[in-house]
Amino acid sequence: MMFGYGGKILRIDLTSGTHQAEPVSEKLAREYIGGRGFVAKILYDEVPKGADPLGPENAVVMASGPLAGTFAPAGGKVHFGAKSPATGGYGDSNMGGHFAAEMKYAGYDAIVLKGAAAGPSIIVIEDGKVQIKDGSKYWSKGAIEAERMMKDDLGEDFQIATIGPAGENQVVFACVSHDFGRQAGRTGIGAVLGSKKVKAIAIRGTQGFPLADPEKVIKKGKEIYDAAFAHPALKEWQDYGTAGVTTWANSIAAFPTKNFQTSYMEGNEALSGEEMRKRIIITDKACFGCPMACGKYSHTKTGKYEAYVEGPEYETTALVGGNCLLPSIEDVAYANYVMDELGLDTISGGGVAAFALECVEKGILSKDDFEGRDLKFGDIESVVYLCHLIASRKGIGDLLAQGVKKASQALGKGSDHFAIQVKGLEWSGYESWWAPANMLAYMTCDVGSHHSRAWAITHDIAVGREQMEGKARRVIELQHIRPMFDMLGACRLPWVELGIDLNHYADIFSVITGIDYKLEDLLHASERVWNLTRAFWKREVPEFGRSFDYPPPRFYKEEIPTGPARGHKIPMEDLDKLLDDYYQLRGWTRDGLPTMEKLLALGLDFVVRDLDSGAVAAVGA
Ligand code: SF4
Repeated sequence: MMFGYGGKILRIDLTSGTHQAEPVSEKLAREYIGGRGFVAKILYDEVPKGADPLGPENAVVMASGPLAGTFAPAGGKVHFGAKSPATGGYGDSNMGGHFAAEMKYAGYDAIVLKGAAAGPSIIVIEDGKVQIKDGSKYWSKGAIEAERMMKDDLGEDFQIATIGPAGENQVVFACVSHDFGRQAGRTGIGAVLGSKKVKAIAIRGTQGFPLADPEKVIKKGKEIYDAAFAHPALKEWQDYGTAGVTTWANSIAAFPTKNFQTSYMEGNEALSGEEMRKRIIITDKACFGCPMACGKYSHTKTGKYEAYVEGPEYETTALVGGNCLLPSIEDVAYANYVMDELGLDTISGGGVAAFALECVEKGILSKDDFEGRDLKFGDIESVVYLCHLIASRKGIGDLLAQGVKKASQALGKGSDHFAIQVKGLEWSGYESWWAPANMLAYMTCDVGSHHSRAWAITHDIAVGREQMEGKARRVIELQHIRPMFDMLGACRLPWVELGIDLNHYADIFSVITGIDYKLEDLLHASERVWNLTRAFWKREVPEFGRSFDYPPPRFYKEEIPTGPARGHKIPMEDLDKLLDDYYQLRGWTRDGLPTMEKLLALGLDFVVRDLDSGAVAAVGA
């Protein structure tokens, strides 16, 4: 018997309308733990080389983890993954709420969708009963509106993941939405679901799953809860959520402002967590089993616009607020609502909107491209208009729907200089011109520039922003720690923000699963997955290598023009030095590819076998 797991992988073939469940093997659990680990292994094994990300041969994998649905604090994370339509490489994104726990209670550690339905569909799962139903009624509805409709139709007990019109129209940064405002936002998984004609997945589970030592799970879980409740920073997180760091990010010159033209926003206090609490928050929300309740539910009214929305979170105040120069928290919350309903990732959505606005400012796009409208930074109407244009893919919206990398390649005129992305994924909400470790973390992130894998700005400040020594080592440590949480199915914020001891997570994993792992065993598994996703990239994108880890030219060619970091930039030589250190410490080649020795040491023999068949031709070169 396997402890701590639902025990099954559910496979659904949308083309034939069939499904089957198979047991999770102990080998998979030991080597890949769950969540992101399962997603990466299944995608590597089952998505054929060269698959069109928006074709039926791509797969969408949803995976919870062993901590999900247990007494382990904040065990509410599910991972969604696919070959990314945004980047063409490995893609995944995690989502809070209650979906992960419900999957486990229905008996599933992973759900794999392949093929494509003939028409708009929803998937309804109740324990072992799996149905693919007509979804026409919900198609073209907003992501949150559709969730409400489905709860009304199916019952409140169902946990539901939906896509919005952006996903239906295969915008490459379309997200998956759940729990009226939680999203698997990044890498365009919503577009992959749209390409499969899947509007929603609804799941309900009524079963339990066995724990290796239930008493110890409760004891260890309580120990972690007690540590969280005793922490002095907890109240601030409960009051302001992630938006509480908005003014801090500005004060340390890390706040994306006007399409990353600078790192300091005048008037940023208007977007702060304090203003948010004072002006728009109605109540607080938590994911499954979470003591932090960082979710904020708000009511916003600005001019002719009014809405209820979960958020904004920090990344939205940064990318939609600072980056589009919106002057009030009400404006940011309204744009957040529009993006949530349309099913657009607010990070990429804010990045693409700001890119378009800079194109207008520089005369690369004009009002002729926008039905005669004068678009400008700082204008909520411009941002709302752009969101609808992109989600519907009308006119120039069709180009912007492909993300800033492809849009800049098509527009030319030097727009690649300010297309703020890595590997095709728009940059997360920390300006890093004056934060080399954070810059390296976003450059080398395995889904494109994203904060979830490693976030190192506090390290930059602690050890000195100018110092390069030691930065690569710290980034690698973080790139194994944060994704470890994604494998466990737990939220990392209690560790990041409340300092919960990492060893607790290995302890609770062991008493849940009966697998006697120490922290280093979990981190070793995390490193295995990191190398596997790098190999996935090389297999899918033959030219993949060092050049894919460089940031956009703005970051190494311009100096920061305003704020506390004024005059700073990171020269290319420093970026190359950081990459040299990083590759060497990882045991990779100078072009950033895992060596055969490294792959074998991590038990990735099957990747080495692909070497022989030519699938990963340059690995180890
Ligand atoms: Fe969800 Fe926030 Fe808790 Fe993490 S800290 S589990 S995101 S409520």
